[in-house]
Amino acid sequence: MTRPARVSIDLAALKHNLQQVRRHAPEAKVMAVVKANAYGHGAIMVADTLASAGADSLAVACLEEALQLREAGLEVPILLLEGVFQPQELHQAISARLDLTVHSSQQMQMLADLAEAQRHQIGRVWLKVDTGMHRLGFAPLQAQEQISLLHSLFPANTELGLMTHLANAGNADDSFTPQQLQCFAELRAAFADMPVSIANSAAIQLWPDAAAHWVRPGLMLYGASSVSGRTGADLGLKPVMKATSKLIAIKDCRKGDSVGYNCAFVCPRDMRIGVVAFGYGDGYPRHIERDTSVWIGAAAAPLVGVVSMDMLTVDLSNHPDAMIDDVVELWGEHIPVEEVAMRTGTIPYELTCKITRRVQREYRQA
Ligand SMILES: *Cc1c(COP(=O)(O)O)cnc(C)c1O
Repeated sequence: MTRPARVSIDLAALKHNLQQVRRHAPEAKVMAVVKANAYGHGAIMVADTLASAGADSLAVACLEEALQLREAGLEVPILLLEGVFQPQELHQAISARLDLTVHSSQQMQMLADLAEAQRHQIGRVWLKVDTGMHRLGFAPLQAQEQISLLHSLFPANTELGLMTHLANAGNADDSFTPQQLQCFAELRAAFADMPVSIANSAAIQLWPDAAAHWVRPGLMLYGASSVSGRTGADLGLKPVMKATSKLIAIKDCRKGDSVGYNCAFVCPRDMRIGVVAFGYGDGYPRHIERDTSVWIGAAAAPLVGVVSMDMLTVDLSNHPDAMIDDVVELWGEHIPVEEVAMRTGTIPYELTCKITRRVQREYRQA
């Protein structure tokens, strides 16, 4: 593939960000979240790097994601964050030595229905408690009964943990997180011998009380911020993904010329327009505010016209020396992914996840 659209993944930055997790939560074990193809960064390379850098576990959303990592030879613990979806998945999960989340009575029943010898091979089970997210998990009042059930199903050497998920940890001055922590505190106290996991990336950075025994960082490992009003750089993180392409054409347009589909942009003066080989077919958002920029050489170049499937167009007024084949950064070290996300009304997670298959991924080694 010689088309220049690519994402380059900086594995040294990934390791740096893991160290930042450790700095914030020095006592906690780290369960690195690599679901959705490691947020679009490439699950195997990312998981391998994090595991060799000492991540204590990995976490994914489903069996297929976990099996992909096992098939690639990864030996570290892997948690299914949502547990299994069907009873038949349990057999595969057990032979792949996966850790399980149990968030519902249906899942508890699936475990109860297993042959005891099989069930006893499971190494670690997390009971998910719903402290206010109202997505997955048992109500706090049901938790005690579910914990007793788990104790009756598993031998003493199975590690049984308590997990919850925070709904609004990215907002430092919101009262919802303290409420969730308070709600969980009583359970934690009543079952003080059970390991506890609460914190996602935002909580690791904003709510040190939530660190507990295991933290579950996702986005911060990739160098982006889920903390309201802050970029990854503000938080001491390094961006892992850089999305780049090249200028594949330069047009000298006259005042009044239109550029691109729907004649959406009309040159207000004579202008040099650069054409970049990256479009919504690569994962660049089509609906994006007008004054969004890309980075070329040493300066920003604003988008003009609409983003098309394979290309987008930029104003080269501040780039008199720009030439065909010049590298263009869509997001990365100069244009924070948080900024692009904000200008399209989304969050960095969605942009990195939505990089499409035809974009080449390049890995820069640690
Ligand atoms: C995705 C996920 C995380 C990681 O969240 P970030 O905001 O990316 O840190 C943690 N816990 C659970 C249960 C998740 O689903």
